Formats: sequence, structure tokens, C-alpha cells
Amino acid sequence: MDSVQYGSKTIDFKIKRAVRKTLAIEVHPDSSVQLIAPENSTVEELKNKVLHRGKWIVKQQAYFEAFLPTTPKREYVSGESHYYLGRRYMLKVKQGGDTSVKLKAGEIVVTLKPNEHEKVKEVLAAWYYTHAKRKFESVMALAVEKFSAEKIENQPIVIKRMNRRWGSCTPEGKIILNPELIKANAKCIEYVITHELCHLIIASHNKEFYKLLSEKMPDWENWKMKLEKLLS
Ligand SMILES: [Zn+2]
Repeated sequence: MDSVQYGSKTIDFKIKRAVRKTLAIEVHPDSSVQLIAPENSTVEELKNKVLHRGKWIVKQQAYFEAFLPTTPKREYVSGESHYYLGRRYMLKVKQGGDTSVKLKAGEIVVTLKPNEHEKVKEVLAAWYYTHAKRKFESVMALAVEKFSAEKIENQPIVIKRMNRRWGSCTPEGKIILNPELIKANAKCIEYVITHELCHLIIASHNKEFYKLLSEKMPDWENWKMKLEKLLS
């Protein structure tokens, strides 16, 4: 692996030699950069070429996925804002009564048994998870309808916390979604699911992929941008 420093970013890249006259630079969905270089080119020459294309490479890396923004730390105390389906709610923690979570007039009310205060985070996470599962499945059912020509049916959903991504999919067609996605509105959820369904047809983020995605969801860029601004 070689690398160059482009502004504040380090661009790592791998070199593959081939019988060809010109250099090709590929940016893969996992952000890795692959150079397919003429056999006689030197590493120094290649580094210069990468620097020259630096702006494009960084842009490609950023474009692939709507990444999870870093969420400010939550303390799970009354007065804090928490999101659900694109709306902001103010957290209200109540003691006494049976453990429950309820949405009420702009508030997300967590009721806990006495002396269970430290459980707010846990109770809330369980509530989010249950609603995420239900909502993701219903959005999936809607989204696959647009893929009837491709004969794609309801795909199994796995809910899994991921550090930087909202969604991904396995080669076997399992769609993995971040439970945090339930904090975004239904259209954003539909965007992530549609994106992953498109991957079942086209694995990489090439021109055909974006053409397909635009066919299935013409306004996807709006929702991707919304996602990038969420949670902050
Ligand atoms: Zn993707």
C-alpha cells in the first residue's frame, strides 16, 4: 500500500500493474483506491497522478454512502432532545409506574420503576429497536414493489449497530440496517433501503448503479442530504 498526503487527507492506494498505456484510478465503495498502472510507471509518477486527481478521489470517497454523522453525547436526562422518524422530541424521565416509553405532544416520556433511573438508555434503546424493526419491514415492503421488474422480493432485514454506516448488504441479499435509522424520516429510510436493493442488481457504485437508483427513487439525493444533517 502506498499513500500521498492530499491537504488534510491521506489517500492510501494499491497499485496493480497491467499491460496498458494509461493509468486508471478506481475508488471502491469501501473507500479504497486502486490504481491500474502501465508496467513501466514509477511509484513517484503514480503518486503525482494521485495528487493531481486528489480532489476527485476525495469526492468519490465521500459520495458513496451517506455516512452517520457523529451524534453529540446524550446523557438521557429530562430536557434532552431525541429523534424519532425525523421529528425531534424532548425527553422526559418519570419515576413510578410500569416501565414504558410513550410519545406525547413533542415529548418522549420514559417511565421507570423507582430506583431504575440508570436504565433510561437501555429502555429507550429497546423501544427504538422494536419500532425500527416494524418500520423497516413496512418500508421494505413498499420499496420492493418498485423492483418487481427485477423480480426482487421482500429481503430479510438484519438490524445491527454500525459505526459509520446507515446500511449495507451481503452478497446473499441480506439487508443490514443501523437501528439509528429509525431517527430519520420514512423517506430517508426508504432511500437507504432502495440503495441497498439496487446493490442486489449492481454491486458497485458505478454510473449504472446511480442510474438505477434514480429510476427507483428520483429524489434520492434530497433524502441522502437530510440523513447527513440528522442527529447533529
Ligand atoms: Zn452503497
